[in-house]
Amino acid sequence: MKLDTRAMRHLTAEDWKVLAAVEQGSKNHELVPVPIIERFSRLKGGSSLVSKCISTLAKTSLIAKMKEAKYDGYRLTYGGLDYLALHTHSQKKHIYSVGTRVGVGKESDIMLVADHTGAQQILKIHRLGRISFRTVKTNRDYLKKNASGSWMYLSTLAARKEYAFLSALHSAGIPVPTPIAHSRHTIVMSLVDAPPLRQISSVPDPAALYASLIELYLRLAKHGLIHGDYNEFNILIREDVSTNPETGTEEITLVPVVIDFPQMISMEHVNAEMYFDRDINCVKIFFERRFHFKPTTPGPFYKDVKKTVGRDGFERLDATLEASGITKKMAKDLEAAIRQHEEEKLQNPEAFEPSDDEEDDDDEDEDEEDKEGEEANTAEKEKEGQPSIVIGFQSPSKS
Ligand code: ADP
Ligand code: MG
Repeated sequence: MKLDTRAMRHLTAEDWKVLAAVEQGSKNHELVPVPIIERFSRLKGGSSLVSKCISTLAKTSLIAKMKEAKYDGYRLTYGGLDYLALHTHSQKKHIYSVGTRVGVGKESDIMLVADHTGAQQILKIHRLGRISFRTVKTNRDYLKKNASGSWMYLSTLAARKEYAFLSALHSAGIPVPTPIAHSRHTIVMSLVDAPPLRQISSVPDPAALYASLIELYLRLAKHGLIHGDYNEFNILIREDVSTNPETGTEEITLVPVVIDFPQMISMEHVNAEMYFDRDINCVKIFFERRFHFKPTTPGPFYKDVKKTVGRDGFERLDATLEASGITKKMAKDLEAAIRQHEEEKLQNPEAFEPSDDEEDDDDEDEDEEDKEGEEANTAEKEKEGQPSIVIGFQSPSKS
C-alpha cells in the first residue's frame, strides 16, 4: 500500500460524499450495502449518480468489493481512508502538497508534506495491521474481535493516542515535534531537522549524550509515562548551536527529541517495570555498541523512579488517554495489537524490514474482485521520488 495522491484532484464533490458515506457505513458494516451508501451520501442525483461515483471510487481503488459477498456492497480501502484524511487536512489548510516518503515502517508511512506557506511538515500515516494479512495470518485474535475494519480501527486508535500524547508532551515542554493536526489514522506534526540516533556514527562526548537521554526519559517518568519503544530510531538528535558569552566561541549542544508514542504506557501499568528496564537497556546496549560507552553507575531503577512520579511540579500525563476519549477497551485493543506486532517482529524480522517493493504489501487485494480499471494499477506501479503533488480537489458542483 503506497500513498498515491494523484487521483485526488479528479474527484468531484459528489465522489467525496460517496466516499465519506462508505466510511460512515463501515462503522456498522464490514461491507457497506449500496442502499446504505445511497442514504448516507444524500446526493440529489439519486442512485444513478451514486453508482457513477461508486464506479469512479472503485476504479481508483478507494473502495473495494469483496469476492463472493452475499450482497452488493463496498468497503473502504487504506487508500480511501488516506484520501479522506488528506482531504480533511487539505480543507483545513494543514496540508497543501505531499512530497516524498522519508520513513517507512511496516506499520506507518512518514511523508514530507507542505502547507500553504510552503513550510515543510511531517505526515505520519498509521498502518497498524498492514502486513498481518499476508505474512502472519494466524494468531491475530485482536483482529477477530474487531473484525469490522480492524486495521482501520486500530490505525485510527494509534493515531489518536499518538496525537494526544504528542500534544500533552509538547504542552509540558518535553522536546517532541509540534503537533499540528490529526485526522483518522494520520497526524501532521512539525518536521524535526535532526537525524535519528541510529544514523549517528560518533559524538564528541558520549557520556553527556547518554546522560541527556536518561534525563529525558526520567522526565517522562515524572509525568507518569513510559515510552515503551525508547530506542535509536525514536530519538532524533538535534544540534543546537549557541555562542558562549564568555569566550565568544560557538558551542554545539546535542538535544534529544523523542518521537513515536502509540505504545506509551503509564508508570502504573502492570508491566511497567519490564518496559522501563527494556527501554533503559536499549539505550545502554546502543551506546556500548556504537560509541563503546558504558555508564559507571547502575540503573536507573524503576522502583526508585516510581517515587518521583508527579514530583517537582510535574503534571501527571498518564491520564491523557482517557481525557482524549480513548476508552479502556480501546486502549486494551491497541495495546494487544502493538504487543502482537512486537512478537511477530521478533519471530519474523524479515517481514518487517522496510522494502521498496511495496506491491507485496497490499493487504487488500487478496480477497477482492479485480480492480475495475487499469488506472489504479498503473498508478501503483509508478515509482516514488516524484516531485510534490498538490492535493487540491475539484468541486464542480456545490451540493
Ligand atoms: P514508526 O511508528 O513507523 O516507527 P516513527 O514515528 O518512529 O514511525 O517514524 C519513523 C521515522 O520517520 C523516524 O525514525 C524518523 O526518522 C522519521 N520521522 C518521524 N517523525 C519525524 C519528524 N517529526 N521529523 C523528522 N523525522 C521524523
Ligand atoms: Mg519508530
